[in-house]
Amino acid sequence: MSFTQSSLKVGELATGHELNVPIFRFRGTDVEAPRVYIQANVHGAEVQGNAVIYQLMQRLETANVLGDVVLVPLANPLGINQKSGEFTLGRFDPITGVNWNREYFDHKVDVEAWYAQHHHLDDTALTHAFRTHLIAACQARLDGEWGITSGHQLAVSLQKMAHDADIVLDLHTGPKSCKHLYCPTYAYELAKQFSIPYTLIIPNDFGGAMDESIFCPWWQLSEHMATQGA
Ligand SMILES: [Zn+2]
Repeated sequence: MSFTQSSLKVGELATGHELNVPIFRFRGTDVEAPRVYIQANVHGAEVQGNAVIYQLMQRLETANVLGDVVLVPLANPLGINQKSGEFTLGRFDPITGVNWNREYFDHKVDVEAWYAQHHHLDDTALTHAFRTHLIAACQARLDGEWGITSGHQLAVSLQKMAHDADIVLDLHTGPKSCKHLYCPTYAYELAKQFSIPYTLIIPNDFGGAMDESIFCPWWQLSEHMATQGA
């Protein structure tokens, strides 16, 4: 299976040069199969995830992949280029001081109102409608009349791509750490398939990170639906 490469504009330098993120897509053979999105290097110095993505690409080239796989190494062009002496810094947006992984968009979906309008749909149509809502909300955020910070623009651009997938992984690197996985409570059993020895459980509470920005809206919707007997 071969991949196609494209790039997404995620910002612009003061000199007018575009900031682009490279995107590698493997097209699956089954349109019904779950789609995967994996990004790495949102924190500039954390390049190990890029090597993981490279190894995965080599494997995928000889595999029969059912669902689409979208790979985004080098997800933060400003972060990876933020050098000081021999070091890559790249943990905080130098303009605002905000951690690059706390910049994602909090949808604050009124799930009660949304579900009241969509409860007549079957599961497939409901999933499609909610996904469409999340992607459109990200686009509206990017198109906002007053503009947004460069860090938030990058984050929401990545988030919008990730909302299109069913499985989303954001690869980070710890400075001194055992291997661990952040995981929403509901996915704890599934997390064991990664063979990563430690799992940190995340509650259904948005704190600005990529993974939370993707799963919190779905989790909020499913919790509300449960109260409605769905
Ligand atoms: Zn990180």
